[in-house]
Amino acid sequence: MRILVVEDERKIAGFIRQGLEEHGFTVEVCSNGDDAFTLATTRPYDTIVLDIMLPGRDGLSILRGLRERKNTVPVILVTARTELNERIDGLNLGADDYLTKPFYVEELVARIHAIARRAKDEPAGLLRVGDLTVDLMQRQVRRGESEIELTAREFSLLERLMRTPGRVFTRTQLLEHVWGYDFDPETNLVDVNIRRLRKKIDDESAAPLIETVRGVGYRVRKSE
Ligand code: CA
Repeated sequence: MRILVVEDERKIAGFIRQGLEEHGFTVEVCSNGDDAFTLATTRPYDTIVLDIMLPGRDGLSILRGLRERKNTVPVILVTARTELNERIDGLNLGADDYLTKPFYVEELVARIHAIARRAKDEPAGLLRVGDLTVDLMQRQVRRGESEIELTAREFSLLERLMRTPGRVFTRTQLLEHVWGYDFDPETNLVDVNIRRLRKKIDDESAAPLIETVRGVGYRVRKSE
C-alpha cells in the first residue's frame, strides 16, 4: 500500500515513515501543503496521513479541496491535542479518521488497515460486527432483524467502537470523541451510556458484542 505522509515536523515525519515502512508500506513524505495537494491530486495513494498546520496550504484546506473534486482517498488527520475544532471540522469535511499527537505508529497502522477493510468489504457508511449493523448515512442501527433506537450520544459512542472492532478504548478516549472536551476524570458518563447501549443492543442476545476490559475501557468484539 502506498501512503502519503504530509507533515512538516521532520522528526515526526521520520518516525511515521520508519514505522510504516517497517510494516511494509510504501511511504512518500511531503512537508509543504501546496506540494502535498499537487501530489494528492495527481498520484494514487491508498491513504493520506495529513497534518493540519503546514507551510503553504493547511491540512483542512487540502482535505476540502480533495473532497470538492470528489476525490475519496482515505485521509487520516494528525492533530495536536489542542486542535479540537480542527478535528471536528476535519471529520465534517470528510476525513476518515484522526489521531492525536503523540501516538504510537501501531495505532496508525491499525487505522490504515481498518479503513482499507471498510473500503473493500462494505458499502460506504456501513459498519458491521456479527449481526449488528450501523448505517452512518441513515443513522440506523440494527441487530439482526430489529431496528434499535439510540440517542445521538449512544450512536456516536457505538460508532466509535464499531469503527475498529477489537480495539480497546479508554474512558478518556471515548469521552473526548463523544462529548468532545475534557471532563472531570471522575465522570461516569461513559459507563452510564455504555450500560444503556448494552441494554438496547446486547440485552436479549446470547452473544454480547460490547465488552469491558477491566482497568482499561471498552471494546466491541471482533467478529470471527
Ligand atoms: Ca505541523
